[in-house]
Amino acid sequence: MPQLTYDGVTYRAAPGESVLDALLRQGVPIANSCRAGACQSCLLRANSGQVPAAAQVGLKSTLSEQGYFLACLCHPTEDLQLEEAGGLEVAASLAALERLTPTVLRARVRTHQPLHYRAGQYITLRRPDGLARSYSLASLPDDHTLELHIRRTPQGQMSGWLFDEAHENDAVTVRGPAGDCFYTAGHPDQPLLLAGTGTGLAPLAGICKDALRQGHRGPIHLFHGALRPEGLYLQDELHTLARENSNLQYIPAVMEGGEAAGLETGKLDTVIAHRHPKLSGWRGFVCGDPTVVQLLRKKFFLAGMASREIFADAFLQAPAPQTTR
Ligand SMILES: Cc1cc2nc3c(=O)[nH]c(=O)nc-3n(C[C@H](O)[C@H](O)[C@H](O)COP(=O)(O)OP(=O)(O)OC[C@H]3O[C@@H](n4cnc5c(N)ncnc54)[C@H](O)[C@@H]3O)c2cc1C
Repeated sequence: MPQLTYDGVTYRAAPGESVLDALLRQGVPIANSCRAGACQSCLLRANSGQVPAAAQVGLKSTLSEQGYFLACLCHPTEDLQLEEAGGLEVAASLAALERLTPTVLRARVRTHQPLHYRAGQYITLRRPDGLARSYSLASLPDDHTLELHIRRTPQGQMSGWLFDEAHENDAVTVRGPAGDCFYTAGHPDQPLLLAGTGTGLAPLAGICKDALRQGHRGPIHLFHGALRPEGLYLQDELHTLARENSNLQYIPAVMEGGEAAGLETGKLDTVIAHRHPKLSGWRGFVCGDPTVVQLLRKKFFLAGMASREIFADAFLQAPAPQTTR
């Protein structure tokens, strides 16, 4: 059985057990969340020993070449000497916390040194006690602070803290950025379709602003879905942005109660399909709830969008039965 040495102590991994599960089982408090390789909260570094390639999927080559890997995806085949990924973190503080709705908080985070990122990528936000979660970037790189949109998860550790206990100037750290869900120049006339529900709007709003800033000329259609009108947010800002940019259309849609508010009503994929039955030649961005992301990816592809043109970030959360830190 492979041995894992962490912080000077050696632990054994049971057959088939991931590094994350082995360390958590033996009481080592490794930060983690989705446990599916999406959030990168459990990034560790192997100083000695080779980690399987599957544990480095999705990491930048600059990280994988230095031995960084995702503990949740790592089923070790040999002994590993491990260390935290703390060296990759940037000191930061909460610059502003603003409730946009009862369940959505806009957090502005000030990093103490510049963070090079693209709007729509995500960062890992870490509390001083080690709790770490991923959040997508709604801000542009030139902005003074990082802008995050946090949905309140019932009994959620990080979102609960940010909503109820955190204060401006509280210290946090930021790691990243990660993810390939961002605008790339080079096809300024290509039609863009951005769609998501809930705080999936954060990366979409960032990508939208970035595309406009980079002079995108083609149509940009931004769909934001919610169950009811009160689940929508940033409507005024986005309507203003659309008024200022004739190639931008912002379409908020709800499942129920939309008629009175003058909103599109129906399932988001149906609303989109009604307006855009054919998507060949388009580029798509879908973010937020994993089920919605999966459905929209499929619908976009079936409507003719090439799979290489579909960029997605599913906001995978911690699995329900497990205790996380
Ligand atoms: C790439 C990526 C980007 C992300 N970007 C964002 C973002 O921009 N904004 C954002 O708000 N989130 C985002 N997330 C999700 C975020 O990382 C956290 O998972 C989320 O904020 C919940 O963390 P928490 O600590 O509050 O809840 P946790 O303490 O992790 O969860 C508490 C418990 O609630 C359960 N739970 C999860 N969903 C529900 C639900 N709907 N109802 C009841 N229980 C539930 C969980 O399974 C868990 O057991 C992103 C995730 C990923 C992977």
